[in-house]
Amino acid sequence: MTDLLAQIDRRRDDLVALTQDLIRIPTVNPPGDNYRRICDFIAARLAPRFPEVEVLRATGAIGDTDKYPRWNVVARAPGKSSGDTVHFNSHHDVVEIGSGWTTDPFGGEVRDGKVYGRGSCDMKGGLAASIIAAEAFIDTHPDFAGAIEISATADEESGGYGGVAWLAEQGRFSPERVQHVIIPEPLNKNRICLGHRGVWWAEIETLGRIAHGSMPFLGDSAIRHMAALLGEIEETLYPALATRQTAMPVVPPLARQSTLNINSIHGGQPEPEAGYTGFPAPIVAHSARIVIDRRYLIEETPEAVRQEVVDLLEKLKATRPGFRYELRDLWTIPPTMTERDAPVVRAVDKAITAVLGLSPDYVVSPGTYDQKHIDRIGKLHNCIAYGPGILDLAHQPDEYVGIDDMLDSAKVMALALNDLLNRS
Ligand SMILES: [Zn+2]
Repeated sequence: MTDLLAQIDRRRDDLVALTQDLIRIPTVNPPGDNYRRICDFIAARLAPRFPEVEVLRATGAIGDTDKYPRWNVVARAPGKSSGDTVHFNSHHDVVEIGSGWTTDPFGGEVRDGKVYGRGSCDMKGGLAASIIAAEAFIDTHPDFAGAIEISATADEESGGYGGVAWLAEQGRFSPERVQHVIIPEPLNKNRICLGHRGVWWAEIETLGRIAHGSMPFLGDSAIRHMAALLGEIEETLYPALATRQTAMPVVPPLARQSTLNINSIHGGQPEPEAGYTGFPAPIVAHSARIVIDRRYLIEETPEAVRQEVVDLLEKLKATRPGFRYELRDLWTIPPTMTERDAPVVRAVDKAITAVLGLSPDYVVSPGTYDQKHIDRIGKLHNCIAYGPGILDLAHQPDEYVGIDDMLDSAKVMALALNDLLNRS
């Protein structure tokens, strides 16, 4: 164990250089730039220790086009005897840079023990830490049992359909093939993330009747019907959601209740951005739409979450003359939470205690990440997110990852490998 940790300390410069190299390949999504380049770079890096390296295009997946193909890399290092497979999955895409940077977003500048750049924290630092951990473990314990896999996948920032979802559909995360998954998302080096809340996205349209705007009494305004719906949401739905608390350790704590965000609202005359620049014509709106983003708890069922909104709409239909609506489901992802006594959780818990000298905090993410596909499509439940980086810095200007944090989490990952795969 001491040997393994010393090996990682010795690779500090390598870890920094690798993180810089990854940041310097700008994999901005959307649209999905340089995916092939970063996959080829990672494949070349891993090839000496991972005899099976594949660069795979998610042909036909959502987002995959000839102009912006969705490339993924999966590398596998089989051990000397049979045993479990531990898989580290990182997404290689980063979000747009936005404004407010004082450093070069793709420069990988090192200052005060930190590496700066878009994706340093979310999550190229975590990817680099997992590579260093696996390499150090393989070099120190070449006779390990089982197998180690490392993947870098596309499109996590836009739903993961050209990345982990596609790989899961190919059977890459089935429990026969992979038994333990660690996703090195930036959740702070002392925290184990067990899963995430559920999501239901839906579009609600209220319907009216078009008429001349000077005689609104001859029509029926869909916008007024929508206003009535929004009033109901404010007066009854939000207070009801606020009372519903979860046993899931969601961070931040304000997300330990059910939440609803009204993502967008449109109705009546199209907005100027939609191609209209002149003076509006006087009409009564015949349609208004909102998109709702409802995040729900492990204690709730998707059916009940939906029914609660249907009940609200039906109440308005019964009490408000002319109220008509349509409800369209857009997206549902159930909540997931890995058991605390799952093998990968116990191994990382022990490793954090050994490296940091403290017990880890257990958390659940307010939003989803690629664990959703591993859980739902892959049917693999022994999965956590654990990685370096400060969660709040993700997607911000002057994003950085601490070098000591990366080293510590690489040690944790290496000790977890030692626990799960080393039989000697
Ligand atoms: Zn991320």
